[in-house]
Amino acid sequence: MNELSESHEDQEKDASIFIECPHCYTKILPHADNTCPACQGDLSSLVGVNPNKVSFLIHESEELPFCCYSCGQYTEQEVRVSGDQESILSKFFMGDISPEDTSNVVIFLPQCQFCAEIEDPEPVEVDYDNQTMTFAVHTRFRDQVLQLREDQNQDEAD
Ligand SMILES: [Zn+2]
Ligand SMILES: [Zn+2]
Repeated sequence: MNELSESHEDQEKDASIFIECPHCYTKILPHADNTCPACQGDLSSLVGVNPNKVSFLIHESEELPFCCYSCGQYTEQEVRVSGDQESILSKFFMGDISPEDTSNVVIFLPQCQFCAEIEDPEPVEVDYDNQTMTFAVHTRFRDQVLQLREDQNQDEAD
């Protein structure tokens, strides 16, 4: 009998029943009627889902292309997205800690003027341990970031 390892397997199964909502890109546990608890979207219907949007993990310090994360157009503009604006402010009041010393995640996300007027970038998920954020991005933006990462890997190999 090995009850310990059996219960561990059960836990892993529990974790895998979380799915990514196609409407709001949040990792969710669907309601019994197959709707999303975060946005109330119908998970069995993809009506209104933008096929060009994917959820994508971005690391805080990584280089990003001149490409609007939202529409995929060329842009040199970027917006500062912070994982936890309030706690960083309170840390400033407690003492002079520079943003680099905190566990807050800050990403300068490329966003064109047009999209900037429509919406502020909201991370789907912030991971303070790994210093990453997940955004719903345009597939063209994702492809360009993947290309940049590939180029950098090749540079390091040289
Ligand atoms: Zn949702
Ligand atoms: Zn744009």
